[in-house]
Amino acid sequence: MGDRVNNAISPDSDFPAFDMPLVGCACGADPLFRFLKDDIGPDFYWTPEEAFTLAHPDVGACADTLSVVAWILPQTERTRKAHRLSSQLPSREWSCGRHYGEMVNERLRQAVVGWCEARGVQACAPALLPQWARELSDKYGFASRWSERHAAHACGLGTFGLSDGLITPAGKAVRVGSVIINRELTPTPRSYTHQNEWCLFHATGKCRACIKRCPADAISEMGHDKIKCKDYIRNVTALHVESEQLGFRVNSCGLCQTKVPCESRNPTAKLKG
Ligand code: SF4
Ligand code: SF4
Repeated sequence: MGDRVNNAISPDSDFPAFDMPLVGCACGADPLFRFLKDDIGPDFYWTPEEAFTLAHPDVGACADTLSVVAWILPQTERTRKAHRLSSQLPSREWSCGRHYGEMVNERLRQAVVGWCEARGVQACAPALLPQWARELSDKYGFASRWSERHAAHACGLGTFGLSDGLITPAGKAVRVGSVIINRELTPTPRSYTHQNEWCLFHATGKCRACIKRCPADAISEMGHDKIKCKDYIRNVTALHVESEQLGFRVNSCGLCQTKVPCESRNPTAKLKG
């Protein structure tokens, strides 16, 4: 991520989009993937085998020999610092990270797939498959056929907070990506047993910082209201990015990801001493 050409926060910028990534992996046959499918959407959510088979229908892949590789791209201190100063609308730095940073992430997915395939290892990036789509989960509302955050959770890279963000060892101010490769790798141990284990509210009953930070009242002790969040982004922040920042709409907000104890670390790590 040190290569500024491939990791620029905006075109021609000397500032990087992301700090050094974290990487983890999981076996394609890990039962957690089946659980996620059944929990999120049995009719639409992909297991690794299903996603890989869409990309490589002739390979006859078996879940046991597939590996999911996920990465965390931490927002830089510069981006987080700028965003901490914002309260109602996203900072320009965050909006650039959301738009151009995600382009970095997309190129990274393509580059990892290309790197593997150049070495004879079939691979795919589920989020880039033409069949990837947004869906409606009976249990969770807005969802998709492959969730990068859930893939990273399965790959040992973190657990979820009240706001649905993935709290990683580098915190929650991150972007996430993943690929599936047809090669067995040693899975990354998951140092948690519960999907919310690293959230202070779930661990101690205290915190609630993200609840106070959200200008849309979209986070409560019950969790994340995806409809309120989406409405605020679509009707307020995306318009602000267009008129005041980048000249086009970007689904930028992420105020709940900064100025909170889980911004750049796992806040429960110190509880375990
Ligand atoms: S701000 Fe606090 S309550 Fe919200 S996700 Fe982070 S640790 Fe959990
Ligand atoms: S992204 Fe913005 S609107 Fe959505 S929960 Fe976070 S702070 Fe609230």
